[in-house]
Order: sequence, then structure tokens, then C-alpha cells
Amino acid sequence: MTVPVNPAHPARGTSLRRCSRTACGRSAVTTLTYVYADQTAVLGPLATFAEPHAYDLCEEHSERLSAPRGWEVVRLAREVDTGPSNDDLLALADAVREAAAPRAPEPIADPWGQETGREVKRRGHLRVLTSDD
Ligand SMILES: [Zn+2]
Repeated sequence: MTVPVNPAHPARGTSLRRCSRTACGRSAVTTLTYVYADQTAVLGPLATFAEPHAYDLCEEHSERLSAPRGWEVVRLAREVDTGPSNDDLLALADAVREAAAPRAPEPIADPWGQETGREVKRRGHLRVLTSDD
């Protein structure tokens, strides 16, 4: 999703943003936004403005982030090796790869060669391979 920029609250730049977690004074590197309607928490680059459901997080708290039960965490622009969202990203990557793959007019001779998905399995990447040849 795209976060709209509100020019009325220019916060990027000189002002130092702090992690919003209690007792954490580290500088914030990401902004967590809750989308209640979708039960989705979006963790993205530091927002340029503050909004009621957005929380700035430092690096450590960003990586430790866990969503409430039933919620999905979407991480934007940052590569994080931990957290449940990788499965979703991999599933999405597979779906994208499948959608992007050309429809072969003939049966695939070696289906296992198509399924191992080497590079596609890289964590944190939405990497699409359109061809294995
Ligand atoms: Zn923190």
C-alpha cells in the first residue's frame, strides 16, 4: 500500500524520531501502521508524518515485531530474516511466478525441475523467475 504524504507534518530530516516502545530510546528506522479494517500491520520505511495508528520502531523492535493473533504483518522495503511473513512472501512469490510463467503448449517434461524453485526460495525477496532454461 502507499502511504500518503501529508505536507502539514514534515517530520523527516532534522528531527530525531524515537522508537515508540516503552523504555526504548533508540532512534526509529521504520514505521508500523495498523490497518484495522484488513487486520494487517504494515511495517515500512519511516513515515514522513505521524498518524493515530502509526508507531515508529527502532531496528531491533522492527525485527522482533509480532502481530496480534489473526493479523498479518506486511514488511515493506526492508529485508528481515525472522517473522512469519516470509511464508506469505514466498507464497506470493510463487503465485507471481506462476502467473508470470508462459503457458507452455506442451507438457513439461521434468516437473520436478520446475518445482524446486532455487532462487525463488530466497528469503525476503520477491524474486520472479520466468524461465528455468
Ligand atoms: Zn525500540
